[in-house]
Amino acid sequence: MSTAATFFGQQVLNRVSFLRCSKEFIKKSLNHDSTIFIPFIEGEALISPENGNLVQLSKSKKSFKSILSTIIPLYTTLLNTTRSRSDESGINLTFLGLLENTDSTFDFEWSDISYKGTPYFGLDIRVTESTLFKKADFEPIFSYPKMTRDHIFKQTNEDASLYSQGRMYLDWLAKYKFCPGCGSTLFPVDAGTKLQCSNENKNVYCNVRDASVNNVCFPRTDPTVIVAVTNSDYSKCCLARSKKRHGDFVLYSTIAGFMEPSETIEEACIREIWEETGISCKNIDIVRSQPWPYPCSLMIGCLGVVEFNSENEVINLNHDDELLDAQWFDTTEIIQALDNYTGGFRVPFKNDINLPGSTTIAFQLISHVCKNYRSLRKASSSHL
Ligand SMILES: [Zn+2]
Repeated sequence: MSTAATFFGQQVLNRVSFLRCSKEFIKKSLNHDSTIFIPFIEGEALISPENGNLVQLSKSKKSFKSILSTIIPLYTTLLNTTRSRSDESGINLTFLGLLENTDSTFDFEWSDISYKGTPYFGLDIRVTESTLFKKADFEPIFSYPKMTRDHIFKQTNEDASLYSQGRMYLDWLAKYKFCPGCGSTLFPVDAGTKLQCSNENKNVYCNVRDASVNNVCFPRTDPTVIVAVTNSDYSKCCLARSKKRHGDFVLYSTIAGFMEPSETIEEACIREIWEETGISCKNIDIVRSQPWPYPCSLMIGCLGVVEFNSENEVINLNHDDELLDAQWFDTTEIIQALDNYTGGFRVPFKNDINLPGSTTIAFQLISHVCKNYRSLRKASSSHL
């Protein structure tokens, strides 16, 4: 399978994760003239009305220079304290990484190595009447429209991937306010990539603070399996219509579901396929994955090959009540639809049925079945 980045999954920046623990690095990168901030308001990014692109702030733009020159230095004094929490300060910040090979003059020495590039941060504005920073401090940012799902899928993969990384961290920072060990307030450390318990009373045991390893809270990623179900010669593909995705058009897609604790990826696929469709599928291959920032999933894309024997392939929707319908479709019909596809959210299939568009891993997996079908036909015809 191609290693080309999936939508939301392009690693645009060098995350230099080992530098996040250096307060000197974070101070310097926050306050450098070249630094880019991707602003979010209440967890959602913004689009430029002029060109529809993801809004990015830098001091090179006059209207943002005054905002960044006052707010960021003040926020820098709050780093690694409870006062940096958005409930008190009005903002959450997370370091995203360095964009390398730019003309930025930023550099930082660490263990005799110089790290260069443009620093990128996600900045989530959550101001209220009682926070340190107020709405007026961020004018004119509030005049920008918020990024909707329609907008995001029209962005370049670079911008969508920056958005995805920022959104996942900032959503987590905004939601996780109290220590799961003792209920004390959490505060961000390592530039908003970890949360630490603020309980300083050694007489009150906290199984997060007092753990010998991992004594902080890490961002959450929810693994989800997504699987294209096919047969041994790839001539059939089982696609399903979900009750949840019952929107204004008919969409048939791959099978998907959350992984459960102590379950392998392969077993999660086998379980989800059987629970949702009744199909018995024992052969699973992991194909590729995609981050999905709504709010914090990692879609693990797989291929499930069913041995047809008049029993394994029988569809039964009665175990789990998640699907409206599931059907075995001919791969040749799907190939035709993909060949006619010119881009967009959905692929017109047949009758009024649509398949998911190219920004989704479901599309990649369905395409993978079609590619395997073609390769197998080509190989067998060359042997005739
Ligand atoms: Zn605690």
